[in-house]
Amino acid sequence: MSAAWRSDRRDGSPNRTGRLDMIVGPMYSGKSAELIRRVDLARRGQLSVRVFCPRRDTRAADRTISSRAGTHAEAIAVETSEEILSYVDSTVDLVAIDEASFFDLGLHPVARALLALPSWVVIAGLDLDYRGDPFGPVPNLLALADNVDKLSAVCVVCHDLHATRTQRLIDGEPAPDGAQIVVELSDDRVRYEARCGRCWVPPQFAAGGTQLPLTTFRASP
Ligand SMILES: [Zn+2]
Repeated sequence: MSAAWRSDRRDGSPNRTGRLDMIVGPMYSGKSAELIRRVDLARRGQLSVRVFCPRRDTRAADRTISSRAGTHAEAIAVETSEEILSYVDSTVDLVAIDEASFFDLGLHPVARALLALPSWVVIAGLDLDYRGDPFGPVPNLLALADNVDKLSAVCVVCHDLHATRTQRLIDGEPAPDGAQIVVELSDDRVRYEARCGRCWVPPQFAAGGTQLPLTTFRASP
């Protein structure tokens, strides 16, 4: 793949076509680890790489993306998806974007602009939120993708290896319906788990749970 993606910089025209790879799945399915693995591969292949993530609750423009496997990559934290375009031109071979679910819906047209450069684009994010609904810009990106890797996790309840759902827990109980993206609430009250389809409790069946006081963006679901 590396030869196909390497720019021919002698005449300034990139010798490649645009390509979008999506990495999706529930919490704890290894999405960031897979994204970082592809970034590392590209760098070892002498490709020019830019990594992005949403800025969220920090003002810092630099952030480190970490995986639970212990790997990490330096990323540019952007406020809006459109900002990504100001960091990328046709000399960039790979554009990697983590936490796509937390970007605005503009990430879809931004991805189309990157593909037109053309760039190789790899995007990771939650495909479904804790309610089981498509998450942010991800469904449109899946439709645009050339390749989709849908990862699974281990179900926390029954240890099934094919968990595809994310369970939000408040005070240890399945959460009722609430905001898709949240919130400032102390970490010891809100937790997320990967669960299989049998063990996942949809919000409408989570009777008696605590409603979240929705205030500001939370650092990491
Ligand atoms: Zn289960």
